[in-house]
Amino acid sequence: MATSEELHKRRVEAVARGVGSTIPAYVDRAGGGTITDVDGREWIDFAAGIAVTNVGNSAPRVVEAVRAQVERFTHTCFMVAPYESYVAVCEQLNALTPGGFEKRSALFNSGAEAVENAVKIARHATGRPAVVVFDHAYHGRTNLTMALTAKNMPYKHRFGPFAGEVYRVPMSYPLRDGGLDGATAAARSIEMIEKQVGAENVAALLIEPIQGEGGFVVPAQGFLPALREWATAAGVVFVADEIQTGFCRTGDWFACEHEGVQPDLITLAKGIAGGLPLAAVTGRADLMDAVHVGGLGGTYGGNPIACAAALASMETMRELDLAAAARRIGAVMGERLRVIAAGDPRVAEVRGRGAMLAMEIVVPGTLTPDPAATAAISAACHAAGLLTLTCGTYGNVLRFLPPLVISDDELGRGLDILAAAFG
Ligand SMILES: *Cc1c(COP(=O)(O)O)cnc(C)c1O
Repeated sequence: MATSEELHKRRVEAVARGVGSTIPAYVDRAGGGTITDVDGREWIDFAAGIAVTNVGNSAPRVVEAVRAQVERFTHTCFMVAPYESYVAVCEQLNALTPGGFEKRSALFNSGAEAVENAVKIARHATGRPAVVVFDHAYHGRTNLTMALTAKNMPYKHRFGPFAGEVYRVPMSYPLRDGGLDGATAAARSIEMIEKQVGAENVAALLIEPIQGEGGFVVPAQGFLPALREWATAAGVVFVADEIQTGFCRTGDWFACEHEGVQPDLITLAKGIAGGLPLAAVTGRADLMDAVHVGGLGGTYGGNPIACAAALASMETMRELDLAAAARRIGAVMGERLRVIAAGDPRVAEVRGRGAMLAMEIVVPGTLTPDPAATAAISAACHAAGLLTLTCGTYGNVLRFLPPLVISDDELGRGLDILAAAFG
């Protein structure tokens, strides 16, 4: 077998430079809480393929379901000749997502595609053009979702012009907004919407209940409920982007549940299908069914193999109670992170929920972001056998997203490596 070094040489000659990788190691196999490269080196996995393999890599039920499906048929296109598993995934999403009202779902391939479709549905249903998004938001890399995403480098730089009718308002970011309470932070954002956009022009308010790429920013308590309440009164479709937070990651099935917020539409992807590409928009039947027949879809959306994997993943989450597992991981990890933070003035804050935790790294005694120190700590983890990711508008957040099936031993060893990386 080729070595990681050999594969990396081939990659440089074959793969576009614009597609980056966190580590220059080429995977041979992965499962539980580890990834092993072709040279036999092992990393403890605190990335889960960016919050995707919540049920673990090659989870037994997923493998079995995919194998059975691939032998029956691989693709007919749901828009041409439909099949049961697509319907079953929609039924489950309608039942699992917050809100006791009647719901419908539609399936797509990627998170960005789900977000684009949520905007299409909200615009169609309301007849309004504007979409309101937040500072530090991340919603994808397609043209519309680049416009919805906040950060220029690397997501938007020289990729414009961008889609119009997108308006950005402040996020509740307790560390960096002077600790505004949720209601005050929401009032500030709402005033900006009303003065600069006009509520009657707004189709959708789109928000990540805990921001992902933007830095694992957890809004102050009350922020999301206040926005939800305003959206209801203003006839604005409240869209929760739970692509990173969904499927047990934060210790609930969905992060909105933590404050009892019921979105009109919810976008889902990442953790939905144990690593197979699948995404969804789930929401109020009146909004979803407003769109004419044929207005939504795509060749591969709700591919039967991905649907089989999703059904097996959701069953695994229920059977192993992975929401409880996420809370347990969060308790163990949070305690260790706070010990590290107490001994290192570069850590401004430990935050997150469940198995979605982060540390924001600054110049000691200030709130000045320190992306260089963040990158150095992350590199030290990689060298010592722990796969970590960074994020944040300022590139100064270490984020931790282990598979929810990680063993106590793997979790402990990963945290030991992290503690050592802080020196
Ligand atoms: C990853 C992500 C997306 C985009 O999903 P893709 O599958 O990469 O297109 C959108 N929103 C959030 C919150 C994400 O974390």
